[in-house]
Amino acid sequence: MKGAKGLIAQPAHYLLRFDDLCPAVSRERWRRCRALIEEFQIRPILAVVADNQDAELQVSPPDPEFWSRIREMESAGAAIGLHGYRHLCVSRGRSLVPLSRVSEFAGVAAEIQREWIREGLHILRSRGLDPKIWVAPRHGFDQNTLHALRAEGMLFVSDGFTRRPFLRDELVWIPQQLWAPVKKVSGLWTICVHANTASDTEIAGLRSFLCHHAKQFTSLERALEDFPPGNLSIAEKISAKCALWQIRASRAKGDLWNHSRRCARI
Ligand SMILES: [Zn+2]
Repeated sequence: MKGAKGLIAQPAHYLLRFDDLCPAVSRERWRRCRALIEEFQIRPILAVVADNQDAELQVSPPDPEFWSRIREMESAGAAIGLHGYRHLCVSRGRSLVPLSRVSEFAGVAAEIQREWIREGLHILRSRGLDPKIWVAPRHGFDQNTLHALRAEGMLFVSDGFTRRPFLRDELVWIPQQLWAPVKKVSGLWTICVHANTASDTEIAGLRSFLCHHAKQFTSLERALEDFPPGNLSIAEKISAKCALWQIRASRAKGDLWNHSRRCARI
């Protein structure tokens, strides 16, 4: 959706992305997220962990209906994301999107990454799903990850801080910039919701935003039609870098605040 003079036309479009989905996802919180998706007929990205081994994501007893529900949601228009292999974030390699100190993929040997991605895709496909987009746990991935994705036929990456999809390293990047709804004027904005930790207040905030802006919520497929991906201009690259620095700075401030509160309690 590009207007005259190459400007990104209004209004803003939003994509919803739900992370950390696996059979042991918090049943109650995920039920509330699904209710919103159904009520507003949203076609989100569902970021599914292929073979979850991360204890932090094991919140409820495994739901025997988890996979059939995800299949139904895919049939209704959701796009399936491969959210890592086992979600075990123990590598300290530097990511192309450096937001976290630890990662499942960044820094891991190329052949192991290739094996994990191949196996992850195989698991999701064996569940009857058609994974389309890479969603890295903790934004952690490097050039070897991109190489493995290309080799396994994955074309899309959900990450980055631009205002529109773009091409980089022969892959299409769909930016993901928000962790809560924020009203924007133009561009494509992906809002990431963590299904295990979304609080009642956050779900209520999302519902209220959807009440006003449901028509601006799009799907992966539609977003690619409305915002044909191209190479980024220098100005767009600089603006994306600034956005990344701002997020890192605000997270560091949050960490410092939490640390000082912990120290005050000791
Ligand atoms: Zn995750």
